[in-house]
Amino acid sequence: MGVGLHTGINVSLRLSPAPPDSGIVFIRNDKKTSVNARVGNIVATDYSSTLGLNGSSIQTVEHLLAAIAGLHIDNLYVEVDSPEVPIMDGSAYPFVELILRSGVIQQDKIKPHIKIVEPIEIIERDRYIRIEPSPFPAITYLMDFDHPLLNKQRFVYHYSIDSFIKEIAPARTFGFLKDVITLQEKGLGKGGSLNNVIILGDLEILNEEGLRYDDEFIRHKVLDLIGDMSLLSMSFIGHITAYRSGHNLNTRLATAILDNSDKWIEVGQSEKGLIV
Ligand SMILES: [Zn+2]
Repeated sequence: MGVGLHTGINVSLRLSPAPPDSGIVFIRNDKKTSVNARVGNIVATDYSSTLGLNGSSIQTVEHLLAAIAGLHIDNLYVEVDSPEVPIMDGSAYPFVELILRSGVIQQDKIKPHIKIVEPIEIIERDRYIRIEPSPFPAITYLMDFDHPLLNKQRFVYHYSIDSFIKEIAPARTFGFLKDVITLQEKGLGKGGSLNNVIILGDLEILNEEGLRYDDEFIRHKVLDLIGDMSLLSMSFIGHITAYRSGHNLNTRLATAILDNSDKWIEVGQSEKGLIV
């Protein structure tokens, strides 16, 4: 049903219900292997997030994971027949539509829920990410790119299904024209086109249809962060501030949260686990 952004391989994707406590499970039908969408199973974060286990892997999971997390779905089987999740239009919206069309049901079991009580921060040269105590889950993303269409921007997202669908899910991935050649030399981006990536030239975008939001780029950074943070496998109450953060730093924050259990407490919650 779609093409992989980096491999260029055609892939079909099937989502089906999973019992409580399953989490999000990727199944490679061609290899007869499966891997849980957990931060401990992340094997690469260059250009996209890759999950791996027992010698097989599944690449570019972040936009589908964002759709799943954005719709507050806790348990799901994701079957694919090749090494990469299809890129679709470069956003999470086609996955959201697919899930909403199939329907979602409530399960009785409650998903683990944590409340951050002390800040956790990772600083790396010119970028950082941190999570702090807050009454509700939220993300502040700070963009700082030396490009006339990007520059300095700030976007605040409060976790809610409605705002995810309206404000975040349609935002597409983007890349720079000058990087396209480098990416292709590395054997990546084979399935990339103006149909699934916003390409930035020196002064303007190359996509004729224009942008879906004036600040589509920063919204996509938030989308990536929502997908990466879902690898924590627990809902969190805390406020993330991310400055120039990407998949590597995002997933390192999720790992740091798991490793610093003295900085959060487990709390009960009313929301129930869901499956498609
Ligand atoms: Zn992305």
